[in-house]
Amino acid sequence: MSPSSHNDKDARQFRRRRERLVQQLRDRGIQDERVLAAVDAVPRHEFVDPAFRSRAYSDEALPIGMDQTISQPFTVAYQTSLLEVEPHDRILEIGTGSGYQAAVLCEMEARVFSVERHEALLDRTRSLLDDLGYNVRTTRGDGTKGWLAFAPYDGIVVTAAAPDIPDALLRQLREPNGTRGGRLVIPVGGPDGQTMTRLVRSGDGPHDYNREEFHNFRFVPLVDEENDDS
Ligand code: SAH
Repeated sequence: MSPSSHNDKDARQFRRRRERLVQQLRDRGIQDERVLAAVDAVPRHEFVDPAFRSRAYSDEALPIGMDQTISQPFTVAYQTSLLEVEPHDRILEIGTGSGYQAAVLCEMEARVFSVERHEALLDRTRSLLDDLGYNVRTTRGDGTKGWLAFAPYDGIVVTAAAPDIPDALLRQLREPNGTRGGRLVIPVGGPDGQTMTRLVRSGDGPHDYNREEFHNFRFVPLVDEENDDS
């Protein structure tokens, strides 16, 4: 068999597995068709460690090195649904990790910005996103401070467990201005579990946010670089 027909076979196999994954997400309660179409479009097998490729389309988190994980597809779909992404929305992601969540946001036609604290991880992910043609602006930094240079955002998604809600992120949400305000989707809690929380900016004041709480999840910790030397 020639290498290219090997690749074709792989591509068909991954496509079939991806279709099954999308059906599972539907069965587990993800209803937003645009989110499901985005999951259907992203080659998740490119974002996992080659050793775990055969599991790329099972609904599980997988290691990506440096004690970090690529989030479970259900979690990515769930957070993306809560963000209510519209085409051209400016979305900030905290915790680039493998780049998978950022790719899903690109497929939803968002303008995507992403902050990662691990330089080596970010370097690897940057070249993957470039190779796959995903246009994501990234920076190395402490995501608890957001990314002021490109604020305000229509949506901010935090993909690590936050002990509390960073003020800087709330301040970088877009004010309503006649339309719906910016949304922050963040798992809040300690290491044993977090409550998925959504804050929607409802006015221009420091307390003008509506807060809603959803299901429980378990994420790797969001590290506050000023209070941690790990
Ligand atoms: N969104 C990723 C999931 C990554 S796991 C994906 O789709 O694969 C969470 C990521 O958050 C890790 O890469 C971790 O290094 C990063 N992280 C943790 N604390 C952070 C902080 N304060 N600022 C930026 N990134 C952080």
